[in-house]
Amino acid sequence: MLIRVVPLGNPGERVLNSLCIQLENSLNAKCRLLRKLDLPSSAHNHFRKQYNAEALIEHVSNIPEVKFIDKEIPTLMVTDEDLYYKGMNFCFGLEDPIKNSCIVSLARLRPEFYDESPNEKIAIERLIKESMHEMGHFKGLYHCTNIKCVMCFSPSVRDIDIKKREFCDNCKLKMMTKGIEF
Ligand SMILES: [Zn+2]
Ligand SMILES: [Zn+2]
Repeated sequence: MLIRVVPLGNPGERVLNSLCIQLENSLNAKCRLLRKLDLPSSAHNHFRKQYNAEALIEHVSNIPEVKFIDKEIPTLMVTDEDLYYKGMNFCFGLEDPIKNSCIVSLARLRPEFYDESPNEKIAIERLIKESMHEMGHFKGLYHCTNIKCVMCFSPSVRDIDIKKREFCDNCKLKMMTKGIEF
């Protein structure tokens, strides 16, 4: 599987490179890192000081170089900005299966967001799990009740930390019966 990775704003080169290498290893995929794009001000909510995840996916997936090319090739947008979705205060990520695209945010994955010491390794580990989670959705998996499974829904970073960087046996079986391969 090929994954197109689109940086939005400034997620940082080191973070992006680690993400690509580790996604390639964990998902048996190939990542293609696209040019860094600016976030459109139209998706910014000044009152909330957050970006609308849906609006970002909509905007970015319509940029000619990113535009849908093949239904087998998902686009993973990575941003350092904080995101929200509909009635939720925030979201770590969002997936749009019709546009073959998903977005993940680093903002709340960084320990410093919670007044803890900065630790990029922890932030990257969380980012990889959330990216794998979105790719799992993209491949047709739903949320899993196994708290150690990467497909478990994580309302907080603590929940992300509990998850492993892998699909549980049940999810693996679902993928196998659906003929999904990673
Ligand atoms: Zn999910
Ligand atoms: Zn699972």
